[in-house]
Amino acid sequence: MLDLAIIGGGPAGLSAGLYATRGGLKEVVMFEMGMPGGQITQSSEIENYPGVFREEPHITGMELMEPWPKQCMHFGLKHAMEQVQSVTKEGKHFNVTTDSGSYEAKSVIVCTGSTPKRAGFEGEDEFFGKGVSTCATCDGFFYKDKEVAVLGGGDTALEEALYLANICSKVYVIHRREEFRAAPPTVERVLKNDKIELILNASIAKAYGGPMGLEGLEIAKKDGESFDLKVPGVFVFVGNNVNNGVLKQSDDSFLCSVNDNGEVIVDLNMHTDVEGLFAAGDIRIEAAKQVVCAAADGAVAGMQALNYVQEHFND
Ligand code: FAD
Ligand code: NAP
Repeated sequence: MLDLAIIGGGPAGLSAGLYATRGGLKEVVMFEMGMPGGQITQSSEIENYPGVFREEPHITGMELMEPWPKQCMHFGLKHAMEQVQSVTKEGKHFNVTTDSGSYEAKSVIVCTGSTPKRAGFEGEDEFFGKGVSTCATCDGFFYKDKEVAVLGGGDTALEEALYLANICSKVYVIHRREEFRAAPPTVERVLKNDKIELILNASIAKAYGGPMGLEGLEIAKKDGESFDLKVPGVFVFVGNNVNNGVLKQSDDSFLCSVNDNGEVIVDLNMHTDVEGLFAAGDIRIEAAKQVVCAAADGAVAGMQALNYVQEHFND
């Protein structure tokens, strides 16, 4: 029987593992279906994690996260590279079912984060992986010295547009409004970048191409104008969906309460409304969606799981 099962190995899951093991829990397994590190490892730059800063070139998400697993493993955290299908509770115990087995656990922390949303334009799914991408650090290099488009007006869209501007000959940022959701310093850097051209009050009506992949986009402006943008690549950064699937029960209900967006409802101690079940990081309500906040949530949840197991299981 595990003392604690942690689902997800991003900043929240790793911090939870660090605090729980260093605090004394022995059997702690972090179920992470990929390499630990979470979604920030896809980011080409991070300049707001306190104490870790480098001027150009900025530290990458991968560089930031690289030492975390080693530190956690040092205190006894185990990593199971398995995808969790579901978490259920029977009596005092949780059952964690993965793609390769099932585990009993005294407590569970869910830190499964979020995944990029699709924008919903025609051709987006057809050309996904063949010109349509959600990861500039993964796919940007394919478009070296070529023109690309970025869809979205949040922090991710603008930061990744800046990253792409270092590789590509031109970056068109397509955004449905005039104001940006991104932080003002990022907007300023975009406005100053000669390689970035803004296409505002506009959306992508259609992505088109052939067997070799994307050839262009049909752009629809709010004023009724429409035009063709001949680009072989478009990067879609329109927000994220929370990964709450592991909490789904056989009757389609959730194991604990979630809000209308599917975010897990927790209190300030990361407790859900199910005893012994905690949630941390981007998956929880009112998450600031920052690495530092996810890490802090994980630390709180790890300490709370430790208290819970010590109070409720005396073996
Ligand atoms: P995640 O990092 O999403 O980690 C969740 C993990 O759970 C993933 O590794 C996933 O593989 C795993 N998982 C999911 N489902 C399962 C399952 N069923 N079984 C097993 N494993 C599972 N934040 C900042 O503070 N500064 C930035 O500059 C910044 N830039 C960003 C740039 C980009 C491109 C993106 C996408 C995000 C950025 N963020 C930034 C936000 C930051 O990455 C997130 O807030 C943070 O990673 C959330 O951490 P988390 O641990 O909650 O979840
Ligand atoms: P986000 O803040 O939700 O922004 C999504 C953007 O996409 C918005 O500009 C939105 O337009 C647009 N959009 C949404 N649906 C669309 C659609 N169907 N078609 C076209 N455009 C659409 O998402 P994000 O940028 O990925 O950021 C997610 C979270 O991570 C945020 O909290 C963010 O602050 C954080 N983050 C932080 C940093 C950092 O601190 N440096 C970096 C990256 C991410 P509207 O503006 O009109 O709604």
